[in-house]
Amino acid sequence: MPKNIFSGLEDLGFDDIDEIDLYHSKKEEIEKEELLQLTDEEKQKKLLYDCEITCPVCDNDFKARAVKTSAARILKRDSDSFIIFDVINPYFYDVWVCDKCGYAAMKRDFNKIRDSEIDLVKEKIRPKWQPRSYPEVYDVNVAIERFKLSLLNYYVIDAKASKKAMNCLKLAWMYRILKDSENEAVFLRQALEGFNYAYFNEAFPLYNMDKFTSMYIIGELNRRLGNNDESLKWFSQIITTHGVPSKLKDRSREQRDLIKEAEQLEKGVDELNNDEIISKENQKPKKGFFSRFFS
Ligand SMILES: [Zn+2]
Repeated sequence: MPKNIFSGLEDLGFDDIDEIDLYHSKKEEIEKEELLQLTDEEKQKKLLYDCEITCPVCDNDFKARAVKTSAARILKRDSDSFIIFDVINPYFYDVWVCDKCGYAAMKRDFNKIRDSEIDLVKEKIRPKWQPRSYPEVYDVNVAIERFKLSLLNYYVIDAKASKKAMNCLKLAWMYRILKDSENEAVFLRQALEGFNYAYFNEAFPLYNMDKFTSMYIIGELNRRLGNNDESLKWFSQIITTHGVPSKLKDRSREQRDLIKEAEQLEKGVDELNNDEIISKENQKPKKGFFSRFFS
């Protein structure tokens, strides 16, 4: 039994303080143990809440699932900014869908829709929309459906290339979770095309990326798609441009080195193959030479 840290205060009237959990660590431990016994779905439910949304297209009030801000713990960040989270994945809840008219957008854009765009959703999405009820907890397949619905809305309202590109990038990340590299590449290519266009035709920031971050992402998407020369051009531009934050320059150097290492490795394998061919050719006369003695 731990010593009562408040002993000595009995004469002052505090004689009933037996065991004190000063930093509530025991309470936290019990909570942690309780959390460990829950299934993944039960854990995720605890980290979600509903927020009230009014659809800007049809004025329908609906509830959107949202992740408590304190809940998203980052495990790892990929080189193209994809974040891998612990327990719950906030990307799954990034798209809001109005269940009455089918208007969908990433939550950052949901309320930023112009009158002319509202008319386009009413004309092209609403008549076809078949209401769909989503489960309480979303998984990657639900997320893919919702990101595609949002992309379709962006397409219909002719949203900026940067918005469509960001939506495609997030779809690529969802396919990365599924380890579906074919579909991941499809959406990485679409994202790259959109960001490339936006870089030369839109004002910065592109979605939420400043000019230098956009350059990095274009370089990195090119690298992931195997366009090494194009990728190196963007990375060297970042490395040699004055005013680029040193962290971004370092990341660009790392990615440039990855390309160079891969190229070096490829060259090495080629050389090794060549050596093998040469040594095999060299073996032939030797064999012939010895065979003269042993035949
Ligand atoms: Zn609506």
